[in-house]
Amino acid sequence: MLFGRYEKNPIKMVDKQIKKWSYATCGYCSVGCSIEIGTNADGKVVGSRGVSGADVNRGKLCVKGIFEHELFESSGRGDKPLIRENIEDSYKETTWNDATAKAAKEIRRIQEKYGRDSFAVISTGQLLTEEFYTLGKLTRGLIGTNNYDGNTTLCMASAVSGYKRSFGSDGPPGCYEDFEHTECLMAWGSNLPEQHPIIYWRFQEAREKRDFPLIVIDPRVTMLAQKADYHLAITPGTDLVLLNALAFVILDEGLDDSAYIKANTNGIVELRTEVANFTPELAEPICGIDADTIRTVARIYAKAGSAMNIWTMGINQSTHGTDGVVGINNLSLITGNIGKPGGTSLSITGQCNAMGTREWSSCSGLPGYRALENEADRDEIGKFWNVDPEFFPKKRGMAQTDIFPAIETGEIKGLWLIATNPMTSMANTDRTRNMLKNLDFLVVQDSYADVETTEYAHLYLPAATWAEKEGVFTNTERRVNIVRKAAEAPGDSKSDFDIFNLIAKHFSNSEEMTFPESPSGAFEEMKALSKGRLADISGMDHDLIEKQRGIQWPYTQAEAKSGATPPAGGKRLYTETASFRYPDGKAKLIAMPFVDNNEVPDEEYPFWLNSGRLVEHFHTRTKTGKLGNTNKYSPIPFMELNPQIADEMGLEQGEYVRCISRRGDAVVMVMLTQRVAPNMVFIPFHYYDCVNRLSLGLLDPYSRQPAYKQAAIKIEKIEDQEAAAKLSMQRRNF
Ligand code: SF4
Repeated sequence: MLFGRYEKNPIKMVDKQIKKWSYATCGYCSVGCSIEIGTNADGKVVGSRGVSGADVNRGKLCVKGIFEHELFESSGRGDKPLIRENIEDSYKETTWNDATAKAAKEIRRIQEKYGRDSFAVISTGQLLTEEFYTLGKLTRGLIGTNNYDGNTTLCMASAVSGYKRSFGSDGPPGCYEDFEHTECLMAWGSNLPEQHPIIYWRFQEAREKRDFPLIVIDPRVTMLAQKADYHLAITPGTDLVLLNALAFVILDEGLDDSAYIKANTNGIVELRTEVANFTPELAEPICGIDADTIRTVARIYAKAGSAMNIWTMGINQSTHGTDGVVGINNLSLITGNIGKPGGTSLSITGQCNAMGTREWSSCSGLPGYRALENEADRDEIGKFWNVDPEFFPKKRGMAQTDIFPAIETGEIKGLWLIATNPMTSMANTDRTRNMLKNLDFLVVQDSYADVETTEYAHLYLPAATWAEKEGVFTNTERRVNIVRKAAEAPGDSKSDFDIFNLIAKHFSNSEEMTFPESPSGAFEEMKALSKGRLADISGMDHDLIEKQRGIQWPYTQAEAKSGATPPAGGKRLYTETASFRYPDGKAKLIAMPFVDNNEVPDEEYPFWLNSGRLVEHFHTRTKTGKLGNTNKYSPIPFMELNPQIADEMGLEQGEYVRCISRRGDAVVMVMLTQRVAPNMVFIPFHYYDCVNRLSLGLLDPYSRQPAYKQAAIKIEKIEDQEAAAKLSMQRRNF
């Protein structure tokens, strides 16, 4: 096949002789693109392509999705369970029976000696939803520890807490189709083109057809900021002040939707009183945005017939991330922009199944958005699982970011890490390393045997990845979509679903509970538990989901029976008057003072440290760092630095420097760009032993999410450039 330049040096596409295409949902980010995986006559996976009939991506994929099939042949995969007594010993291969028996035995030994909650479980946003459900059943119903969380605490926890505080429940209320209706988009700390490229394409296509204003709030001149009508380069950590100031202007100038406020919310008097303290003039020196711009932006947003707020880590990863989310929800509520086409408050999720873990993993509660604090919920799940409801804790235990410090204090003695890599993702790497070394027993379950955490584990369980197994993901817009099995997992590795079932069998109390033997069996249990609830999936089944290329929840049994085609599911939440999840159906407008409690640059550490994602890499590069076609773009750690500062410091493009914070140091290559202000640097968060050696990670009080984006550093020249280059190259992975 030829394409592009037909006349001169045309680009030749190799015919890969694909014989079969299998349907899946992309296993990287939460956009949830439908993808097909191509297999040749020898059964080898050789290609990926977008699915044209899928509403999410309409045939397109980003650079990660295009090369996703290369995962199946990536290096570093585990293919046998490995065991050792001490972390100084070498691993030995073992059988699945011995490995899972050892895991169960160590869990019980530690619990009997130190108490039920002394063993912790931390999972991920990468598993299939049926696997999350099964892990929750195992952890809540058999193991019985309350210290169980997901790595999504590092990513989406503030969005969850904020939705719960404002609307009475988690669950993003909008959808991608809102781009096609909105008259104004306000993006908070969200760089769509790099983080969620296909959502960006949906937005950009809508804007090309029907121009509408884009307002971007971000300290950095991101790719999205370069497209903005208004770019508000805010001082890090001050978004709540700006949110309150925008609310002040809207209320003060009578631009609010008073009928909507009256019918759908409580708390307007208190909100009005609090935001009266946040005039644009007060906000100007704190946020670094002039008062006129704040007024102009507030007017554009409030006067639009419908307006969207979207956000990602720029809001969530802050000491007041949850307040930031509530502040965004406040803006949406006072302007009547919830539950209508083009009017929403949409957190763009991170991992492919961060939503699935929120809905079904029981990490912070019980399945189907049930709460441990609610007696009726405990009773219902106890009855369904055949577990004494008294076995369940009456409130949630520690979040991931509290579990790690509890290893230091001796409260946590054992840990099971599932598809998560805290050695790269947790703030303060050196401290995390010491914590892991202090555990009596660490089991790591991961597709990759060379993930950094296995260095500190006693037991390694090799897991299948992505389309080596079958089940569903939920994406950012609540769309449940399926992954079909396209390839065999290497060697003896097993699906996470099978591993959980094997471990369950070693617990003596397992006989009273039944664990479905297949993911579709687990899906049937989830359907039954979802009936009549917000996240109702009772009308779905695996085949229908594939046929429709994903269905948004809620999608009830009654809707399925009515035969309405196509079954698109629930596009938006809270479309009816007073349909929020508080008992009176009204959302809460919440007044929030601003407390400035983070590390800020000073004379000794004069630069803001900002971190974030690159389009070619995913999270800790466990996967993308192994694929030549993604890793080649950014194989080594680098830092964006303003040329003016580089000039003053005598630094050049491509030179290695040492960044130093109060926690540690990291060597990075200098990349000169005007995208960062002279007092700020940006380092991608994907690299091991890099930006999180520097980060502080103070926690949000509600969500326990770390403030990765606000820390102070200094920069030092490195004399021995050769040694620094060698150190950087060691981190290339391949
Ligand atoms: Fe996958 Fe996200 Fe890229 Fe879509 S945008 S192909 S879901 S990584």
